[in-house]
Amino acid sequence: MTKWFDTNYHFIVPELGPNMKFTYSSHKAISEYKEAKALGIDTVPVLIGPVTYVLLSKPAKGVNKSFPLLSLLGSILHVYKEVIAELKAAGASWIQFDEPSLVMDLDSHQLDAFTKAYSELESSLSDLNVLIETYFADVPVEAYRTITGLSAISAFGFDLVRGTKTADVIKSAGFPSGKYLFAGIVDGRNIWANDLASSLTILKDLEAVVGKDKLVVSTSCSLMHTAVDLVNETKLDGEIKSWLAFAAQKVVEVNALSKALAGQTEEVFFSANAAAQSSRKSSPRVTNAEVQKAAAALKDSDHRRATNVGIRLDTQQKKLNLPILPTTTTGSFPQTVELRRVRREYKAKKISEEEYVKAIEEEISKVVKLQEELDLDVLVHGEPERNDMVEYFGEQLSGFAFTVNGWVQSYGSRCVKPPIIYGDVSRPKAMTVFWSSTAQSMTSRPMKGMLTGPVTILNWSFVRNDQPRHETCYQIAFAIKKEVEDLEAAGIQVIQIDEAALREGLPLRKSEQAFYLDWAVHSFRITNCSVKDTTQIHTHMCYSNFNDIIHSIISMDSDVITLENSRSDEKLLSVFREGVKYGAGIGPGVYDIHSPRIPTTEEIADRINKMLAVLEVNILWVNPDCGLKTRKYTEVKPALTNMVAAAKLLRSQL
Ligand code: GLN
Ligand code: ZN
Repeated sequence: MTKWFDTNYHFIVPELGPNMKFTYSSHKAISEYKEAKALGIDTVPVLIGPVTYVLLSKPAKGVNKSFPLLSLLGSILHVYKEVIAELKAAGASWIQFDEPSLVMDLDSHQLDAFTKAYSELESSLSDLNVLIETYFADVPVEAYRTITGLSAISAFGFDLVRGTKTADVIKSAGFPSGKYLFAGIVDGRNIWANDLASSLTILKDLEAVVGKDKLVVSTSCSLMHTAVDLVNETKLDGEIKSWLAFAAQKVVEVNALSKALAGQTEEVFFSANAAAQSSRKSSPRVTNAEVQKAAAALKDSDHRRATNVGIRLDTQQKKLNLPILPTTTTGSFPQTVELRRVRREYKAKKISEEEYVKAIEEEISKVVKLQEELDLDVLVHGEPERNDMVEYFGEQLSGFAFTVNGWVQSYGSRCVKPPIIYGDVSRPKAMTVFWSSTAQSMTSRPMKGMLTGPVTILNWSFVRNDQPRHETCYQIAFAIKKEVEDLEAAGIQVIQIDEAALREGLPLRKSEQAFYLDWAVHSFRITNCSVKDTTQIHTHMCYSNFNDIIHSIISMDSDVITLENSRSDEKLLSVFREGVKYGAGIGPGVYDIHSPRIPTTEEIADRINKMLAVLEVNILWVNPDCGLKTRKYTEVKPALTNMVAAAKLLRSQL
């Protein structure tokens, strides 16, 4: 399973090889088309395009890594032909092929595959209107030329929200005459109401290029990436609600824009929209002059800790006095049914604050005792007060709003409910100091303060679209910086700032990646640039593909980093084998927390030994891949017992 482009939606990666036989098995597309038709609705069946399908696949286990997957295209197209024939027979007049891989940096060989595939399908597609849909970024000019030159295709769809340059490309490179342009002007990835007046101007411009009746108003991508219906939001503030549009409202916007283009403007709807747009621009709840000033000042200067990491680690070690191969965990301990009940009842005001604090303190105390018994070196408080690592902070920061039902599918029946960042972000008061100090008071071992970093808070929220993302990120960084300073002042010596989602926010286009990494890493450094040398800053990152951003990880300049790793050991270590120097502490996870399986001492020791072959012994930490909140104590206790035993075994051999 992997993330679908830069969304939080997951798909199963097809694993293919030379002997793969492709046959037509699931007739889902046809039965759903017929089901809708029986209700009197003629739908456009949407299929993943054959080239994107192949480009997202990978060689199966045992297949040579350099196996040319595109060589399978011909046999896959046979199946597409069968599906198309069946859809035609069922009465479909349009078919949509999603080819989002067109927004990536494809080489000419990959682009040729589009020409080949759609020429091969041309006779099957005769008598049909065929749409190639792209989304999530601009389509590079080369790719634009390739697809708009395809004779089998009658319509092309582009994301005009994330693809900020595409409208200009259409104007300058031209558009094939007689074909349709599906203009993705309503944002399918966010929750903001469309600025209808400004969209109408863009649409009219495009209509002048492609011709009347050839412009189709559309959403920028599938609506599965946004929340479903604003009607379900009973608790949102009225003014904020007027600024929003979820999927159900976006469809109405598309319709209104389309009618307006045809000269039938719904005046009432348009003027209500204009009023909401201007209230959003001028609302005092959006702007906080002080925050704007502070964030603007951060942008242009660099922020680094004064001393080099090697010196800092020595200074910290004098205070922390840790053994070699120190053991720790990444933060959360199992979230029991009882714990969830306590938080729910407190939220519903069924139990008093006093009772709530007592229950959480008891939980922290249990977690601390357990870690002492297990003989872990750097402890955590277990995060029992948090439902979610972003929502918990969002609820305490200003500029955030929360939905009751704004769920977005992540995979299967799993959904996430991202907070909405609508205004300038600030921190009215300390967020974690009470719990971290309480936890530290229960033990003489170092207790990690536990924070979520600015980039992760940003990437897991619906972000405001009225200023660049990096400006919002700097504001969050400034708020987290204050929290770090308060934790330090309260005597917390080790502070972990999680950047679980830094890697997944990497833009799809290579040309945009350096800029993102630059402000993302800078934001992280802002959070902790002012702490003393003796304060040890940790960070943690999920998603195990770090090789391409290893230099950015180094520039984050944290004292210690723990990484998700156990499912791709070799990959991460190969970077260091190839000579990348890492001087800070590093803890590539020694076991997979996504599985209930309990790793043995031998197997963990073996893993650590492999790491020791490439990493210096004095920088290596021993920890699981990620937080333990989804696991049971019956899994966590033996797994951590074995982890500590493995670290001790290796210490005795060194
Ligand atoms: N500190 C968090 C935890 O352990 C980190 C979770 C994450 O990286 N997704 O739960
Ligand atoms: Zn993680």
